[in-house]
Amino acid sequence: MKKLGMIYEGKAKKVFKTDDENLFIVDYKDDATAFNGLKKGQISGKGAVNNVMANIIFQMLEKKGIPTHFVEQLSERETLVTAVKILPLEVIIRNVTAGSFSKRYGVEEGRVLARPILEFSYKNDELGDPLINDDHILALELATEEELEEVKRYSYIINDNLKEFFLEIGLKLVDFKVEFGKQMDGKIILADEISPDTCRLWDAVTNEKMDKDRFRRDLGNVEETYQEVLSRVQKKG
Ligand code: UDP
Repeated sequence: MKKLGMIYEGKAKKVFKTDDENLFIVDYKDDATAFNGLKKGQISGKGAVNNVMANIIFQMLEKKGIPTHFVEQLSERETLVTAVKILPLEVIIRNVTAGSFSKRYGVEEGRVLARPILEFSYKNDELGDPLINDDHILALELATEEELEEVKRYSYIINDNLKEFFLEIGLKLVDFKVEFGKQMDGKIILADEISPDTCRLWDAVTNEKMDKDRFRRDLGNVEETYQEVLSRVQKKG
């Protein structure tokens, strides 16, 4: 597989074309951003942690019936994936209150929700990824009704499987964000990544934060925490 020109550079990853139009290569970076890019830094080794961890989790989810973009890990930081067009939606699922939810609704962090909440944000950095609902998505034609239903159905299944997976390695899944893409034939599949950058994970015993909040909130031991999460995932995966 030949790595050709870069088609996209995001905050945490670069995406390259290949000599097969159905395949891209993603290359994970150590760059870290928070608060819509206001806070910038580096987390040494993060690119490799997120790549390897996302790949283990995507393979686990495939076995549970979720189609994903994962094809093959090429190196510590690079993975061959199915070429998709990313839907301009961030799907967030919350099991426990935290972060922007706690702020927005005035609820203390750490309250177990009576049922999971699914939220959508419109993926648009300039606008700061505003919260949107099903009507916004359909009226603005960001996805069709069928695509929206599929995205929601997959997201709840992903939540059930991730919650169980993480609990078995002593981590509580507080919330997470996923993104979906559309293959050339129109099929919707899970894309982007699932990692400590995109999930809130609290130690099941101590409630210690084991995710990007260590960077966002300057809690220290950022690199060590990412490595610890990966090593638990690797033991299980
Ligand atoms: N999240 C993400 N990318 C984003 C926004 C949120 O991966 O652009 C993840 C975040 O890590 C957390 C969950 O989605 O696990 C919910 O984040 P929240 O809406 O609370 O926003 P934050 O507090 O991170 O601003």
